Amino acid sequence: MGVLGGTFDPVHIGHVVAAVDARSALKLDRVLVVVAGDPWQKRDRVVASAADRLALVEAAFDGVDGIEASAIEIDRDAPSITADTLEALLAPERDLFLILGADAVANMSTWKRLDATRALATVVVIEREGEHAVPPGDGWRVEHLPIPRLDVSSTDIRDRLADGRPIDGLVPPVVVQGIRERGLYTGDR
Ligand code: ATP
Ligand code: MG
Repeated sequence: MGVLGGTFDPVHIGHVVAAVDARSALKLDRVLVVVAGDPWQKRDRVVASAADRLALVEAAFDGVDGIEASAIEIDRDAPSITADTLEALLAPERDLFLILGADAVANMSTWKRLDATRALATVVVIEREGEHAVPPGDGWRVEHLPIPRLDVSSTDIRDRLADGRPIDGLVPPVVVQGIRERGLYTGDR
């Protein structure tokens, strides 16, 4: 099983491609898109509520084969720690694959329970052209997966919305609609 964690504030097409390409390349039965409930490293930057971010992720992957939104970190009601999440997903006959962008891998040395993480999952580093990253320290099981470069980020989406610029094509249409209906990201920054 694959696990793609993130803040998803909001979800965008880079996340969709990362999830489907990882599932396909590694022949995973399914990939869980785990929405951080309390992303403790981004507390000052998270804009939408966990419920809104989860609803948009659910909408984005609705009808996408083998990809599911997961509320496991939201339901836990504690700071989101990857090792805790992986432990909760452990099951007999289940190999866990932790899917991470190269930027996220570069940040891993700041993670809590990093040693526990190493024992729990194979890290899948999704690398856009020119990117390369390896987890800090020895003993990791790592796969490197080249993915198309889609220069979109949640930060850029939020900036566009705050400025009244369009986001069509950068997020799935159903997410454009969900953001509008929920009145997200348009307020003052
Ligand atoms: P922010 O702009 O707030 O940093 P983000 O767009 O990076 O947001 P996150 O929720 O931080 O989104 O990312 C979740 C995961 O998706 C991370 O592993 C990140 O590396 C990866 N990711 C983010 N953007 C892309 C993209 N354009 N293509 C592929 N993977 C991406
Ligand atoms: Mg990021």
